[in-house]
Amino acid sequence: MKRVYNFSAGPAVLPEEVLREAAEEMLDYRGTGMSVMEMSHRSAAFQQIIDEAEADLRDLMNIPDNYKVLFLQGGASQQFAAIPMNMMKNGKAAYIVTGQWAKKAYQEAQIYGEAVKVASSEDKTFSYIPDCSDLDIPEDADYVYICENNTIYGTKFKTLPNTKGKPLVADVSSCFLSEPVDVSKYGVIWGGVQKNIGPAGVVIMIIREDLIPETPPVANTPTMLKWKTQADNGSMYNTPPCYGIYICGKVFKWIKKMGGLEAMKAHNEKKAAILYKFLDESKLFKGTVRAEDRSLMNVPFITGDADMDAKFVKEAKAAGFENLKGHRSVGGMRASIYNAMPIEGVEALVAFMKKFEEENA
Ligand SMILES: *Cc1c(COP(=O)(O)O)cnc(C)c1O
Repeated sequence: MKRVYNFSAGPAVLPEEVLREAAEEMLDYRGTGMSVMEMSHRSAAFQQIIDEAEADLRDLMNIPDNYKVLFLQGGASQQFAAIPMNMMKNGKAAYIVTGQWAKKAYQEAQIYGEAVKVASSEDKTFSYIPDCSDLDIPEDADYVYICENNTIYGTKFKTLPNTKGKPLVADVSSCFLSEPVDVSKYGVIWGGVQKNIGPAGVVIMIIREDLIPETPPVANTPTMLKWKTQADNGSMYNTPPCYGIYICGKVFKWIKKMGGLEAMKAHNEKKAAILYKFLDESKLFKGTVRAEDRSLMNVPFITGDADMDAKFVKEAKAAGFENLKGHRSVGGMRASIYNAMPIEGVEALVAFMKKFEEENA
């Protein structure tokens, strides 16, 4: 068996330990005589899996009691609609557009109400985070929306925007559990899990209870997209993505064992520093993001020559470094170095880049 260093932006690398454990439990989950994939979501065994997953996540993130945790399906993109449907009481919201995912959320919200773009970094291909300390937030905005870590462009909000008292809604798909957060600063903190936590298909919503409406303000909101439906039924109004939730639960336990979010932050900072230091000193490669806005998770870089970029991606793949090609919308390269990427993976990548630079500069 051979495992590569997988720098995919998502679905992405998972801890090997978690995969091994899941493999061991595949045919007979703890004496039930069946796989988690085969068991009823109403069984005691599965109830324990989802309860433990929620308890471990609450513990890891220190989630206050007045927040609900929902494990849903439909991916992050489905919540681009569910958020305005559940939250646009005044029919208005402020969006900060710092990349493709924020833009998609902004565009989707326009279907259901008035989405106001209050800041953007599109003028410089989303290579920075705009100053959000004093934005023109409409008085009657129901919330302020951000994508906290921009997976495609490799930028990250290092300070949260001043929302002028409005609830902050943050898509943290690609920085979920990468460092400690103060959940109480958010109205809704949420994301798809396939970047940093588990298999595609699960989306985790952490929502302050008072933001879950009895009846969504947007007419004809489908039952499945009403947060209330999901909250009242413990994420099991219908069959949840059982196997995905089970793997997420194992990843939560892995993070706890590794020392929790403080330890993850230290681990991630160490890895990112190795790569950024090399990029800053390299004669061939350079990073594309303003230094103070750099993500710990997604590191885009270029040589400045598309043919050279392609040659690098090809040779890297042959050497066992997978998925380094940049997003189709931006080109170049991108190394995603999520929680489960070991430091050895980043060190090996940098050694490979050095060698490539010597041969090609
Ligand atoms: C990947 C990603 C999404 C989209 O996730 P899907 O589950 O494919 O809908 C949304 N937001 C961010 C920040 C992402 O990285």
